[in-house]
Amino acid sequence: MKFRRSLSTAALFVLLAAPFTTAQNGGPDPATVQARATADSTFYLPSEPTPNLGLLKIRLREYADCTAPSACYARDLDAQTARASVLLDAAVAHSKPGEKPALVLDIDETSLSNMEQMEREDYGYIVPDFNAWVLSGKAPAIPGTLRLFNHAQSLGVTVFFITGRPESQRAATIANLNSAGYHGWKSLSMQPATSNAVTAAVTTTATYKSAERGKIVAAGYRIVINVGDQLSDLDGEPHADYSIKLPNPFYYLP
Ligand SMILES: [Mg+2]
Repeated sequence: MKFRRSLSTAALFVLLAAPFTTAQNGGPDPATVQARATADSTFYLPSEPTPNLGLLKIRLREYADCTAPSACYARDLDAQTARASVLLDAAVAHSKPGEKPALVLDIDETSLSNMEQMEREDYGYIVPDFNAWVLSGKAPAIPGTLRLFNHAQSLGVTVFFITGRPESQRAATIANLNSAGYHGWKSLSMQPATSNAVTAAVTTTATYKSAERGKIVAAGYRIVINVGDQLSDLDGEPHADYSIKLPNPFYYLP
C-alpha cells in the first residue's frame, strides 16, 4: 500500500492541498510531484522519459529571447564571435609573408539566423516550410558573425562559406547573403545532389565539410578560423588553427 502511515494527518493535508511548486524551468518541481505520489495512495506516477518536450521549448524561447535568468543566446553568440575576432587578429599578426589566411564560415545559425522560422514552426523543423523560408532569402545576419566577416575583410583575410544547404538553394542563398550584408566573399560550397542513397548515407556533414576545407588548403590558403554552430562543422581534417563553436540548442546535425 502506498500510503505512508508515518505521515501525520496535518502534513498529509498540506501536501495534498498545496499545488505543485514550480521548478526553475517553469514546470512542476519533480521533488514535490514525487512527494505527492508518495503521500497520496490514489495518485500514481508513470514511468516516463525526461526531459519534457514542452518544457524544453519554453526554455529555448527564454534563451532565444534572453528572458532566462542567466542565459542569453545573443550574448553567447557575441561572446564567441568576439573571441574569433581576437584570435583572427593574433593569427594574422603572426602570419608569414606570402601566406594566404582564410576564414571559413558555416551559414545557418552561424552567418544567417533562422530564428524567425524556427519559432514559427515551434522548433518542429517542418521540411517544406523550412525550405520555403530558405528560398525566401529573408534570414537576417547574425550580428557578431557579420562583424567578424567585415573585420576579416579589412585584414585581407579571404572568406569561404561551407554549408550543408543543397545546390538547389544556391541562388536563394547567395541573394540572402548579399541582402544580409555579406559582400566580397570568395566561394560558397554547397552539398551536391546525389541520387545514390548509399553514398548519401555514408557522406556525413563532417566528411563533406572536411573535404571542402581540404580544397581550400590545396588552393594555398591557411584556414586560421573555422566557425560553425554544429560540431560537425568543425570535426575532421584539415583543422583550422582555431575552431569556434557557436551556441545552438535548437537543433542537432550529426
Ligand atoms: Mg549551421
